[in-house]
Amino acid sequence: MTTDTILKNKDEEDIITMTMAGSCLCGSVKFTATGVGGDHGVCHCGTCRKWSGGPTMAIHVESLSFENEEKVKAYISSEWAERGFCQECGTHLFYRLRDGSMTVVWAGAFDKNDGFSLGSEIYIESKPEGYSFAGEHPRMTEHEFLKSLGMAE
Ligand SMILES: [Zn+2]
Ligand SMILES: [Zn+2]
Repeated sequence: MTTDTILKNKDEEDIITMTMAGSCLCGSVKFTATGVGGDHGVCHCGTCRKWSGGPTMAIHVESLSFENEEKVKAYISSEWAERGFCQECGTHLFYRLRDGSMTVVWAGAFDKNDGFSLGSEIYIESKPEGYSFAGEHPRMTEHEFLKSLGMAE
């Protein structure tokens, strides 16, 4: 469990729901997301950094529909989740639970990025020392994060 549950911690009333469009770098894949949340969830875990080339900055969405879905490849990164990208240009698009219960979209894939705040950081102990994100927001270790979900003592 990594980026998936970051935004589930928020109260329902805090979630700004809206519909937004996005695309990959080459334009082969276009998508529409509904119920787009208002905050970046940041994950510093090693899997995210390897896959993304840096920390994940992703936005929770309620639904995601694609134009040219055949260009989207989903890599199964764990028993419970998959990570989607454009087969032509490699743009990182989404992370979702394979049971369909949760999807986040990489913030940069949206056509507009204004208006997203920074909600929280998780796996903070995995963050490389050379950079850090400014601002006041929750920063949780893996253990604190799992504990907040009731998955650890
Ligand atoms: Zn592409
Ligand atoms: Zn992660």
